[in-house]
Amino acid sequence: VSAHRVVVVGAGFGGLSVARHLGNQPDIDVLVVDRANYHLFQPLLYQVATAGLEPADIAHPARGILRRHRNVRFRSGEVTGVDWDTRRLLVKGSAPIPFDSLVLAAGARTATFGVPGVDEHAFGLKRLQDAVGLRSHLLRQFEQADADPTQVDLGALNVVVVGGGPTGVEMAGAFTELFHVVFARDFPRLPIHRARVVLVEMADELLTPFVRPLRNAARRDLYHKGVELELGRSVAEVDAKGVRLDDGRLIPARTVLWAAGVQAEPLGAALGLATTRGGRVVVGHDLAVPDHERVWAIGDLAASPDEEGEILPQLAPVAIQGGAYVAERILARDTGEQPRPFHYVDRGTMATIGRRAAVAQLPWGIRFTGTLAWLAWLGLHLIQLIGFRNRLSVLLNWAWNYVTWDRAARIIVDVERHPDE
Ligand SMILES: Cc1cc2nc3c(=O)[nH]c(=O)nc-3n(C[C@H](O)[C@H](O)[C@H](O)COP(=O)(O)OP(=O)(O)OC[C@H]3O[C@@H](n4cnc5c(N)ncnc54)[C@H](O)[C@@H]3O)c2cc1C
Repeated sequence: VSAHRVVVVGAGFGGLSVARHLGNQPDIDVLVVDRANYHLFQPLLYQVATAGLEPADIAHPARGILRRHRNVRFRSGEVTGVDWDTRRLLVKGSAPIPFDSLVLAAGARTATFGVPGVDEHAFGLKRLQDAVGLRSHLLRQFEQADADPTQVDLGALNVVVVGGGPTGVEMAGAFTELFHVVFARDFPRLPIHRARVVLVEMADELLTPFVRPLRNAARRDLYHKGVELELGRSVAEVDAKGVRLDDGRLIPARTVLWAAGVQAEPLGAALGLATTRGGRVVVGHDLAVPDHERVWAIGDLAASPDEEGEILPQLAPVAIQGGAYVAERILARDTGEQPRPFHYVDRGTMATIGRRAAVAQLPWGIRFTGTLAWLAWLGLHLIQLIGFRNRLSVLLNWAWNYVTWDRAARIIVDVERHPDE
């Protein structure tokens, strides 16, 4: 009997979870397809963008992760469609890939909601290129202002962060520390005190998924770090000069980070599947795609319901647990047993605001802030990183940054587009 062929699209948190749970299982062949050749640890992307870590600290080669399972292979390629009749996946630049079971775990991308100028003038923070591009752009603004101080009046040192969720809060905190601690020493001739970090959030509060005391703590911490908060305000337009708010004010800024929303990768539509408004693939309580046999969608790509039918948030643990669940379904494929619904276990959420400042919200009403939450955040992220080398490198970088108040990764690298991207 030939092995059961499982194809997994995406080597993110969800895809790797499926592959690992099927690793070394008899009679199963797994092929993981990803357009990148690495797994990206997105929760630490903002530290690459703000020169705290190097790209290789948070990206791990997919082949290196998967090679310990003899029945799991990897292929680098972009999935563009499917032939449902012959059950073959279409991949750009390579032959179609046949499958018996298919798991879609392609993740999400930045959503600009059609706000004018965002595509052209703002940076998202989803891919490694985004973080390296943003870091280089920011450093270049400071270099240019150093060469021509009249640029300061035009907002060359200012940054606007749009979106008051965890990513926006983390970035705003990290920018102020970078400016006032590191750039103040790097650029002694520049008036760093005039470098503004403005955080724009449409709601009246930051970190809306957190309980009120933690939201207030985050707000207080950012305020003390010198972040200007524009709450209850939305962005009308972004252009080369800055950000125009909905009340007509222009915030002059050359660097704009768009952390106001994500949407699923367009894979669902490319495969002709039913999707929600945010492009997420509609799945049942068993994470299966309706009307397609042995096809599942997990993680950020899927609109996974909890037991009450509420759609689960786009978070790493949802993808990881979804992956483990689907692997179990694949292993139980011939038993004929009725699947129990997917049950997500929420072990809590955290967000960091900067040096010795973070908020943590755990089950059973446990919450904490400040140094303790910050240490918990550091520890948890270190544990979750893949690979001993990455953990060691991140730990060393963090220790170095903490003790010396420095950031080693403030390097300008021009990210050029490949002709066929
Ligand atoms: C800046 C940032 C900070 C975050 N912080 C946290 C946090 O602190 N805690 C938390 O729980 N979550 C956090 N998240 C969310 C978390 O990273 C996601 O929920 C998680 O990555 C989802 O896993 P996934 O497997 O669904 O998708 P991903 O991890 O995004 O992986 C999807 C993979 O699919 C590949 N892919 C996409 N389309 C195709 C295609 N057509 N063909 C081939 N390959 C394709 C991509 O290259 C990618 O490798 C953060 C996200 C960001 C962007």
